[in-house]
Amino acid sequence: MISPLIDENTIDRLRALINGVQRIAITCHKSPDGDALGSTLALCHVLRRLGKDAVVVTPDMAPKSLDFVPGVRDLVVFTKHELRARHVMKEAQLIFCLDFNALQRIDRLGEIVEPLNTPRVLIDHHLHPEDIFTVSISHPEASSTCELVFRVLMQLGLLRFLDRQAASCLYVGMLTDTGGFAYSCDDPEFYEIVSLVMRRRFDRIKFYNLAMNTFSADSLRLQGYAMSDKMQLYPAQGAALITLDKAELERFNYNRGDTETLVNKPLAIPEIYWSVFMREDADRIKISCRSQGDFSVSDICSRYFNGGGHENAAGGEFMGSMDDAVALFHQVLHDLFPPDNNNEQNNQPT
Ligand code: 5GP
Ligand code: MN
Repeated sequence: MISPLIDENTIDRLRALINGVQRIAITCHKSPDGDALGSTLALCHVLRRLGKDAVVVTPDMAPKSLDFVPGVRDLVVFTKHELRARHVMKEAQLIFCLDFNALQRIDRLGEIVEPLNTPRVLIDHHLHPEDIFTVSISHPEASSTCELVFRVLMQLGLLRFLDRQAASCLYVGMLTDTGGFAYSCDDPEFYEIVSLVMRRRFDRIKFYNLAMNTFSADSLRLQGYAMSDKMQLYPAQGAALITLDKAELERFNYNRGDTETLVNKPLAIPEIYWSVFMREDADRIKISCRSQGDFSVSDICSRYFNGGGHENAAGGEFMGSMDDAVALFHQVLHDLFPPDNNNEQNNQPT
């Protein structure tokens, strides 16, 4: 039995909103990942089968590595189709905000959404959602936004519209946001939901391999280089740091998504329980953090890197040079683990 996690009053308000409209826009955070794309596209499929004019608008392009998610070619991408994206947002009678907690996370789309009087529905599992939604379904304890979309559809009585295509989208999000059913999935109900999704009989192995085990040769070589030449370990603080600058990325013909799971790798080392990856983008350093246990990287990202996320998976950005970003990381180490006077080398990497 799957319990009704979302309170019935919220579900009733959401049902009334959906019943009262025809045109629905659905959006997710920038640099969409498997959960952002899976949840928006699944919800879009279901709403279309319900007879609604539903469109997914993303702040920027999906990475090539997620090309296989059904429906990805129909996305209206703000950075590519700005006029159309503006039009869809302005004409929408209802806007779903999936897999993000603050308008800043949808970049310039946020400036379009903010002044609109259109009702907004949040479905998300990040900590600390902004208080700007007409209906807010925020459950940081959930594995993924895809799990929450399943629960919302179940409680709305709409599961009969969840077809094979939408089910495969939800599977991709639940799979990738839990690192292949590894973390954030201790609730037995999670597997009941996976089981119900799998009853739609999509090609599970195909989707597993595409989502979890498909990398270009360049990407594998880049990851190998990063681990052999660029991984710094700080065993006294349980930390690891990997940095990749523009020149290094270019050397391996970097495409977005190529370093997606790299930050997790150092956590395989028993004494390492938090890991930071810094990647030089066009105009900033992108920060990714992962941790194990009750060490919160979301706090670190919000305090030092203008970001946030979950306790064990968070991100942010740094405006400045890689050297300065690394210096700030050393400052974090120093703040969290003040060096022992007797052992000045404590903060030195190995
Ligand atoms: P990733 O490291 O895969 O980019 O992101 C890990 C988690 O941190 C995701 O849940 C993502 O939403 C969140 N996150 C990543 N970058 C940012 C950011 O710049 N700001 C905030 N608030 N969250 C982020
Ligand atoms: Mn997510």
